[in-house]
Amino acid sequence: MIIVMAPGAKQEEIDYVLSRLGERGYQHHISRGVERTLIGAIGAHEGEKEALAEQLMLLPGVDRVVPILRPYKLVSQEHAVEPSVVRIGGVPFGRKHVAVISGPCAVENEKQMLEAAVAAKRAGAAVLRGGAYKPRTSPYAFQGLGEAGLEMLAAAREATGLPFLTEIMDVRQVEAVEAVADGIQVGARNMQNYDLLREVGAAKKPVVLKRGFAATVQEWLRAAEYVAAAGNLDVILCERGIRTFETETRFTFDLAGMAAAKLETHLPIIADPSHATGNHKLVPPMALAALAGGADGLMVEMHPHPDRALSDGPQSLTPKRLLGLMDQVRNLCLALGLELAVPE
Ligand code: PEP
Ligand code: MN
Repeated sequence: MIIVMAPGAKQEEIDYVLSRLGERGYQHHISRGVERTLIGAIGAHEGEKEALAEQLMLLPGVDRVVPILRPYKLVSQEHAVEPSVVRIGGVPFGRKHVAVISGPCAVENEKQMLEAAVAAKRAGAAVLRGGAYKPRTSPYAFQGLGEAGLEMLAAAREATGLPFLTEIMDVRQVEAVEAVADGIQVGARNMQNYDLLREVGAAKKPVVLKRGFAATVQEWLRAAEYVAAAGNLDVILCERGIRTFETETRFTFDLAGMAAAKLETHLPIIADPSHATGNHKLVPPMALAALAGGADGLMVEMHPHPDRALSDGPQSLTPKRLLGLMDQVRNLCLALGLELAVPE
């Protein structure tokens, strides 16, 4: 970090900053300008840098403290030679590999899940989705089938060969989900549930980390760092819309945020136009925009009968609409030189 002293800072103030750095084992380098003195602090005390910077900012004669390194390391582009490829059940995301994850918002029963899986595969989605544990705004709304839902997802995988991704909400669910799912989703509402992030960081399955709808790109990347720091570098980020003043769409799809995050991290980033817009009519245009803007894949909700869905029907594509979207996705991938995964 660089400590920028205020113009006219006294020598004893500079000396005091140096002594505080010395206490913490930091080396320093002083550069004296006409107006100001800058102190470059060099130390390897990962973890305490931010706290120390905040302390130094309070000292007399200090104008500001400027960090040099990013607060995330393992997920940062600085720490990777090239973009990472992360696989969900063998399906690659990243470095020009794109894939579509599709399926219903929630697993509702065996028939619905199976129909959805068959339709997803027929359309060309390579990964299946479905929530067994659902984060619902109302405690009286359908909460998901829990472990029974996991079994239905496994049966749908068995029938179609599609790997599946499903959400966990609580550290107590990690073991059961890790044992059966091909990928673990951490939803927007849990992006800053740090205990959960650490727990999925210890899991042996890839993690799709959705952006919290009130989280900045920096907070999202730091959340991914939690998973990586706990040992799991198989993380796919997912932009799913943020809350703004706009009410025309369910959330505001932050494609610029997705592109900005891509400049910072080597991890693949996919986009979820279903939750972002809340309206199935807006899903195809936003899905295509996301791919054109650099997304490494899509998550699209599809229900065999959206008019009977227990959650998120308005944003769910019918199987027929998914077929239509996938035709456009294939054309776009050709034009962009992207390799679209096909179901096995
Ligand atoms: C979901 O994928 O069904 C979901 C609840 O998403 P989000 O966490 O983005 O709201
Ligand atoms: Mn949903």
